[in-house]
Amino acid sequence: MVRAYVALGANLGDAAAALRQAVEAMSQLPLTQVRQSSSLYKTAPLDTDASEASAAPGDDYLNAVVKLETGLTAPALLDHLQHIEQQAGRERPYRNAPRTLDLDLLLYGSARIESERLTLPHPRMAQRAFVLVPLAEIAPELVSAAQLAAVAQQRIERLGRLAD
Ligand code: ATP
Ligand code: MG
Ligand code: MG
Repeated sequence: MVRAYVALGANLGDAAAALRQAVEAMSQLPLTQVRQSSSLYKTAPLDTDASEASAAPGDDYLNAVVKLETGLTAPALLDHLQHIEQQAGRERPYRNAPRTLDLDLLLYGSARIESERLTLPHPRMAQRAFVLVPLAEIAPELVSAAQLAAVAQQRIERLGRLAD
């Protein structure tokens, strides 16, 4: 079994319900258990691709991070995460577009992978308060004070328990 961390995000439709359903769906994956969930957080959207006139960032996001124990390989886990995104109605019209559900694999044990469809650790996790703050909540040993300080200017609000 490998310990993996997944970042959840949504800013379209009932985002809180989408995140809760995603946790439930991950708990039903083969060879996989959800061991821990962070609180639910609210964050401002990232900039979208400015070259597109229609590239609106949309509403604030809800974010969380969960810890899994899994017997799936990393590519198989990514396949399942993408299937859960599809079930939630995920579309990808442009970079950083508003989305019903984003499930990013942050860490898979100590794996370092750079393939066409999977990079581990997630290459942008260190730049994002919406990843580091919830990750630090459930795995403080994985996030340094310096990393948190580097994203401290990004607004992030803890809303409460993910399950409430
Ligand atoms: P970002 O990766 O900056 O958070 P995003 O989540 O909006 O952007 P997506 O459209 O969800 O990007 O994913 C684009 C592609 O990223 C996917 O098709 C997937 O193959 C690839 N990818 C590479 N590494 C990972 C990873 N660690 N977790 C999830 N997807 C990944
Ligand atoms: Mg993402
Ligand atoms: Mg993604």
